[in-house]
Amino acid sequence: MSFATLIEHSRRYGSDASFVLLGGGNTSYKENGVLYVKASGYALGTIGAEGFVRMDLAKMQGIWNKEYSQDDDTREDEVLKDMMACRLEGEHARPSVEALLHALLPFDYVVHLHPAIVNGVTCAQWGKEAVSRLFGEALWIELVKPGFILAHIVRQRMALHTQETGKVCSLIFLQNHGIFVGGSSLEQIAAMYESVMKRIESQLVRKPDFSPVSSDEKQVEAVKTVLKHYSNDTILFAMNKEYQHFLGDATSFAKVASSFTPDHIVYAGFKPLWVAEDDDVAKAFEAFEAHNGVRPKIVCVQNLGVFSLGEKPLPLFLDSVAISVYSESFGGPLFMDEPMIDFIRNWEVEKYRSKVAVQ
Ligand SMILES: [Zn+2]
Repeated sequence: MSFATLIEHSRRYGSDASFVLLGGGNTSYKENGVLYVKASGYALGTIGAEGFVRMDLAKMQGIWNKEYSQDDDTREDEVLKDMMACRLEGEHARPSVEALLHALLPFDYVVHLHPAIVNGVTCAQWGKEAVSRLFGEALWIELVKPGFILAHIVRQRMALHTQETGKVCSLIFLQNHGIFVGGSSLEQIAAMYESVMKRIESQLVRKPDFSPVSSDEKQVEAVKTVLKHYSNDTILFAMNKEYQHFLGDATSFAKVASSFTPDHIVYAGFKPLWVAEDDDVAKAFEAFEAHNGVRPKIVCVQNLGVFSLGEKPLPLFLDSVAISVYSESFGGPLFMDEPMIDFIRNWEVEKYRSKVAVQ
């Protein structure tokens, strides 16, 4: 059964950190006018049938004939309400925010992931040029608001692409986000992912080196003690060759000092705290909180290492560093711009609230 195959492949992608981390990415399958799409709040790595929502594709098509508010919050509320109404009877979970995009891609299967190596291109200064040079007919979608706006832009570009080439595009690169691949089978999609990643790899001038480096244990413990005042979560510490490179001075740190994709904001905070060698960690932490209204989730101490408040921020920071290194082969890192970072920061609150309400 094809739905069973989708679950199997979703788990495989979700368990492989080179494809996606934590709750990121989503997959879908279409059969007899029904879209099976990942529900919000489930991680691909452990997903089962209950992690998918069944939706009426014809009803979803109706969303494109409606007028929505210009105001971000109102519009997303309106669209969410309509999306919820497109679920088949008996469905209770909330569809992924990217469900609309899954619905409009005319493929039996769609797999959307955030591989660091691909984001080394989508989060790079010359990302757009690299995609057109390496992947010919793939679509490049510039930084746009996720959810309805993203789906709307992709729909327009797909139509334009079909008009110009007579072909349906099955490969979409989203700036500062990730990649969508559509196909008539999951084997075809797997082969596409492999070829995309190999192609990018062949262009790399350098790969991240995460071999461990030891740090002064007393200093590490001292910083952990300070951070424990601010968090009940476990404080994790890591140092490796790549962190050493970025934590050497403020100029090097600038290349990992902001957010590449929405997931980085959601899990690791909108930016890490930088503490220079001679600075006081507690003072720097409090100044960050006073200035930004939130506490940092990642604290980087010059020449010492990376501290994570809780377990989730650390893998996302590692991912940021990997993306930054890969991007060096494509003109250097390109973070999301400030308005988009602000949008995601505000939007995340909404997402979280709805998630809690659903579960
Ligand atoms: Zn995504």
